[in-house]
Amino acid sequence: MICGNIDLTCTACRLSEERTQVVPGNGSCKSRIMFIGEAPGREEDLQGEPFVGRAGDLLNKTLERFGVKRERVYVGNIVKCRPPNNRKPRSDETDTCATMYLLNEIETIDPKVICALGQTAVNYFLPIGKRMADVVGREFLVVVNGRKIRFFPSYHPAACLYQRKNLSAFQKGIRSSLRAAGMIR
Ligand code: URA
Repeated sequence: MICGNIDLTCTACRLSEERTQVVPGNGSCKSRIMFIGEAPGREEDLQGEPFVGRAGDLLNKTLERFGVKRERVYVGNIVKCRPPNNRKPRSDETDTCATMYLLNEIETIDPKVICALGQTAVNYFLPIGKRMADVVGREFLVVVNGRKIRFFPSYHPAACLYQRKNLSAFQKGIRSSLRAAGMIR
């Protein structure tokens, strides 16, 4: 299910020029946790759903390892359109897209916990220039739409596909965030 208002014909930034389609977040609108990545990749751009490529497989398998089916949580991205050649979204693109759509998704779902997947998502919520290695495994409190939300920075699953040494920190982070959300013990 898509939660919040999203304009599938959005042209608010230059990413609309080369995308195949807008990729809204999806999952349970009642989820106590939101997983938020960077931006759609090639598979996501083609299928119109977030985290359906190899990184998504790893996220799904990790959730299942802890007994949680992907449909029970909400998964989305900071930016809803694929940047050309998978470049990193620029700050004006993240600001525009998050202000127009992500904040509304968060307000609609009202999660107790946000798990940010990768540097782009971490930077959006913790704009203090921290390196991933300094924040992964820690818990923060962020205020979004005037509400306090427990915040867990995580490595991006794609980073674990290429650097297996990040895998165990990734798995631990997913487990901690699911626990904080009261979804597992
Ligand atoms: N990487 C992301 O950050 N988001 C996706 O949806 C897919 C890959």
